[in-house]
Order: sequence, then structure tokens, then C-alpha cells
Amino acid sequence: MKQQTLAIHAGYEKDEQRTMTVPIYMSTAFDFGSAEFAASSFNLEQGTDNVYTRVGNPTSAVFEKRMAAMEGGAAGLALASGMSAIFYSILNVAEAGDNIVCATQLYGGTVTLFTHTLKRLGIEARMFNVHDHEEMKALIDEKTKCIFFESITNPSIDVPDFEAIINEANAHGIITIVDNTVATPVLCQPLLLGADVVVHSASKYTTGQGLAIGGIVVERVNLVEKIAGNNRYNHFNEPEVSYHGLVFSDSVVSGILFTFRMRMVLMRDTGAVISPFNSWLFIQGLETLPLRMKQHSESALAIAKHLEAHPKVKRVNYPGLESNHNYVMGQNYFNGGHSGLLSFEVEDREAAQKIVDATEIFSIVANIGDSKSIITHPASTTHQQLSEQELIDAGVPGGLIRLSVGLEDTQDLIADLEKALG
Ligand code: PLP
Repeated sequence: MKQQTLAIHAGYEKDEQRTMTVPIYMSTAFDFGSAEFAASSFNLEQGTDNVYTRVGNPTSAVFEKRMAAMEGGAAGLALASGMSAIFYSILNVAEAGDNIVCATQLYGGTVTLFTHTLKRLGIEARMFNVHDHEEMKALIDEKTKCIFFESITNPSIDVPDFEAIINEANAHGIITIVDNTVATPVLCQPLLLGADVVVHSASKYTTGQGLAIGGIVVERVNLVEKIAGNNRYNHFNEPEVSYHGLVFSDSVVSGILFTFRMRMVLMRDTGAVISPFNSWLFIQGLETLPLRMKQHSESALAIAKHLEAHPKVKRVNYPGLESNHNYVMGQNYFNGGHSGLLSFEVEDREAAQKIVDATEIFSIVANIGDSKSIITHPASTTHQQLSEQELIDAGVPGGLIRLSVGLEDTQDLIADLEKALG
């Protein structure tokens, strides 16, 4: 089935009430009916459905199945936020003494998670320029547990060479994790390009209206083939003491391994669970995601072209522009557009902040992926915690302005920017 159909139907079978809209199962727990069934559920013999909402909920299950279908993956796990989705995906592979190899061009919150919080847990983040594959290769060793990058980097708007990164990871048996938040599965499907795991902040384009915080992790089909017997991932291949010696890579149910362990160990123990109500909001949003991403992309491209011709603009970062160094990668790996995120550089920090203040339709908000257009000065907001060197590495000079192009009329947005640029 095509994306537009999956976005509306995947993962939902009407219940006995035949409700057209997925019901919200706002319940903490579910009745087992018998002591025997309860015991077998706790022993993981009944799957993960209808036990306790921390480890699974019927409304959230529809969101998980729908996103997994749209990503072309095997299964998903919804979480409380995009940050918890990223954190859990790392904790699922790495522990103290290990390292992860990740692109420097990342969302600012991911940079601080990787370089500060993970460091305190004993996990080292080794950063490489997303376009420098030699630098990446040199960072890999036997303790490397994943390679992490974004499918469109935020806010430098780079598109990585998926093939080069994934081939190198595969040569070492290392798991690749891709943050697909900005692209969404409508425009790019990293799992079908060979990546192993996709993570999302569902807080962005999924509803497209900035309604709720949420996240999701999706694993590719047959990931067990990479993990089973792989010494890098002994914790999947050795008996899990907290489940009476269960070996996760031997216990694969319906091809689900990565998110199964994440749910049954990390979610069980640390509980960054999504509210069923938020899952329901995300399900509603997904129905229109393919239509919205088309419009966001068309409008962003028109704005990028306009800005590129403006004398006060030094540089525009948008992979849909033929002049952009990411154009070829954008054509290779994206389908139907390049999303609504673009950035452009003006003279300096002061000029950038003046433009941000002068726009009227654009709101000054620390968010992206909304139907309402957003303008941000990353160096003083989303990336404020980064040092000067980290700002340069992340591709965030002081004069950089980021736009999240919404769904308003394109010409109105261009006129607003034109006026602000002066
Ligand atoms: N990944 C990307 C690319 C983001 O832009 C963000 C938030 O801006 C996140 C992850 C974090 O997501 P959340 O705010 O849902 O925790």
C-alpha cells in the first residue's frame, strides 16, 4: 500500500463498536481474567498487549504500528518525547565503557544529551562531520555500539550520504540509528535505505499543529540477523537475569527484537511512557501527513529560491536548491520534496536577530514542523548551550536564521520575509 493509505488505515482494526476513529484507551491497567493468564503475561508468553500502560497500550499500539508501516519497518515503540526516544535507543545498545559515533550536525538537545549526560553515564560520544567519512571511520573501534545521524540535519540542513555511512557500519556489524524527524517517512525512509533503527520527535510534523510532545522508535525488518551472535551486542545474546534467563535474540516474536527489549527492559524500568491521549493526537495527525509534507516542501523551496536571490542573504541551506551542496544527496534519498525546514545566513548575529524581530507572520518559537510558520535564531536559543566551537561544528554561525515553513500562503510568507530583510 502507498503512504497516503497507510497513514489513514495502518495498524487499526475496528473493535466491536466499529468506531471509525481509533478509541482512546485511557486506562492504566487491564484485567487479566485469571491468575494463570496473569502469570503467563508477566512471563512474556502473551506478548506485550494489555498488561499495564507503561509497557503497552492499545491506542499507542495503533500509533506504533502505523508509524512502523509508514517507515517500512517491523515494529515501533512510542515514548514520552523525542529526547526519550533518542536516549532509549542509545541505552538499548550502549553501557558504561562503550562509545557511540555520531554526526556533529545534530539538534542541540541531542548534542547536550550525547556530550554531557551520556558522558556522566560513562558512554563516550565521538563526533564526526556528517560529510567526512574518513573522520567517521577513524572513530570506530570494538566498543562502538552505534552510528547516529539525522536524515536532514537541524539546523544546518545537510543530507548525509546514507550509503557510505551505512556500508561502513555494516562492515563492522554496527547498528545505525537515524533521527528522521525533519524528513518524516513521507519524504525519506531510512530503514529502506539500509539503516537499522529510526527515531522521531513526534512533537513536530506528526500532528503538524504543535499539539503534544511525543517520540517513537522504529526498527527495521530482520534486525535480528545483525544482532544475533554479534559480540558487540552481548546483552541481546546472553541470558537476561531480570527475565529468568531469557535470551532476547532467541525470543524474537513476529520479527521484533530491538523495540521489544527496549519496551520490556528500559520502559519497564524507567518508564518514559507516552500518554494514550497523545498517541491518539499523533494518529489523527498522521492521516494528513503526506498532504502536509508536500505543501511544506513546495512552499519551502519557493522561499529558498527567493532568499537565494536576495542581496542581504549570504547563503541559503535547502537541499532542494540546485546550487546547494546537498542537492545530489537530496535527489538520491528523498522522494516528493525536502521538508519545510531551511536556514539562511545574513551578515552577523545582530542582523539576524533584527530580522527575526521584524517578521509578522512568522512566530519566534523554539519548535519546528508546525502549520504555523516559525523563525528562530539558533545560536541564541535552541543551540545556546553549545560552546563557540560546538556552534561552528554544528553548522550554526551567529548570522544563521532557521525557518520552519508552515502552511500559510507562500506569497504572504515571502512578502513578510522581504519586509523584514529591509
Ligand atoms: N530530534 C530533532 C531533530 C528535533 O528537532 C527535536 C526537537 O526539537 C528532538 C529530536 C527532540 O524532540 P522532543 O522535543 O519531542 O523531545
